[in-house]
Parts: sequence; structure tokens; C-alpha cells
Amino acid sequence: MKLTIAWLYPNLMGTYGDRGNIIALVKRCQWRGIEVEVKEMGLAEDNESLISSNLIFMGGAQDRQQRIVSDDIFRNKGPLILDLVNRGIPALFVCASYQFMGHFYRSADGVDIPGLGLFDLHTVNPGRRVSRCIGNIVIELSPDLFGRAAAKPVRTTLVGFENHGGRTYLGQTKPLGRVIKGYGNNGDDRTEGAIYKNAIGCYFHGPLLPRNPQLADLLISRALGVDLRELKKLPDFLEEKAHREALSRD
Ligand code: GLN
Repeated sequence: MKLTIAWLYPNLMGTYGDRGNIIALVKRCQWRGIEVEVKEMGLAEDNESLISSNLIFMGGAQDRQQRIVSDDIFRNKGPLILDLVNRGIPALFVCASYQFMGHFYRSADGVDIPGLGLFDLHTVNPGRRVSRCIGNIVIELSPDLFGRAAAKPVRTTLVGFENHGGRTYLGQTKPLGRVIKGYGNNGDDRTEGAIYKNAIGCYFHGPLLPRNPQLADLLISRALGVDLRELKKLPDFLEEKAHREALSRD
């Protein structure tokens, strides 16, 4: 078994600790003796690395970097991302990259950046006239996420940090969960994130995975094609402590 992670635009799209998600995935494989490789894919890389990967990760960014990356996503890497996810490859898209996976992202200056339409959603950034969605966030996970995993999750909450101007509105796509604390997709309908097959989009920075280890393990298990219970249990007492601490904050 080998986990091969395609890490898209690490130098352009990785805000508020997002690279910590890669570290968490790598360590959780190494601690289990599972071979793992990270393929960093910038603007120049062709699709070779994507084709040979079994997990896709892409982080967040400011509007400026989104404009820089959008052409490459839409014209070069995007069609293959869609094909891989539709074939069941797991993926984690955080914030700006989550926005890219909808139909369009209307940036703060009113420019519509086209999206891949992986998730049935769109995002509008109202700009400076409306405050950004910033702060710690806690959600109750949708049962759809682990539903197909034989092992029910120990934790049904997800904790993290959000910082986005964009407000995301879901169409038919299922949410990742319901907001307990924070803004989530748009600060109004109490949804957060989106799920489609084994792809997850969300606004969780922080990074997300170290404080939510079972989500990391779910992505690993889906990438390796094994049941979550087949992964050796790790002593996650520090991760659990960090999760509990985040839940206890006001
Ligand atoms: N620029 C986007 C927004 O403000 C995404 C921000 C981010 O990725 N943290 O909504």
C-alpha cells in the first residue's frame, strides 16, 4: 500500500497553516509503516503527477493568488481533477480551492472566476462593505461523510479556524456539516463545506487534519481502498486534547 498525495500549488495556495494537513497525512502513514509520497504541483507541472496520485490536496489563498491559479486549474489540471474525483479518488479542498470547485467564485472586486463545478455551489465575496468570516469554527459532521465507513466516527465534531470573505451557497450538493460555532459557508444557513463522492470542500484552516485525526484517517483509508478499521489505531491523545480544547473555547 502507498499513499501518493498530489499537493496542488503549495507555494501559491496554502494559508493559515494549510501545509499542516500534508504533514498530518504523511506522519499518520509513516507511524503505521505505510509508504507515502508527496508530489508538489505548481503552475508549471503537467498532469503526470496527478494521474499517479490517490489523494488530492489544495489549500486556501487570497483573491490575488486565486486569479493567478485560475487559468491553470480551469484549462490544465481541472478536467483531470474532475475525472479523478468522479472515479472515487479522495480530495480535500480548503477555502479558496473549495470555492474553485463550485460553479464560480465572484471575487471581492466583482470579477467572476469560473469554477470546475465539482460541487453544486457558487461563492460571492461581497468585499470590504461586509466583514470577513474570521474565527474559530466548530461543526457537527454530516452522517453522509462516514456513513459508508463500517467504523462509526468516535468524534462527530470538526474544529478549525476560518478566514474568508466569500459566502458559499449550496445547490444539490450535501454539506460537510452543520455549524455549531462560527460562520461556515455563508454565516446564514448554518451549513459548512460540501461533500461529493470522496471529495471534501470546507473553510477549515488551522490546519484542519491534526486536530481532526479521524478525518485524516478517513481520507487515507479511502485513498488506499481499505476500511477505516483496517488502519492501525494511533495513540491520538494529543490530537484529542487539542480537539477538546477547541470545543471548550467560547
Ligand atoms: N480569497 C477567498 C475569500 O476571501 C479565499 C480565502 C482563503 O482561502 N482563506 O473568500
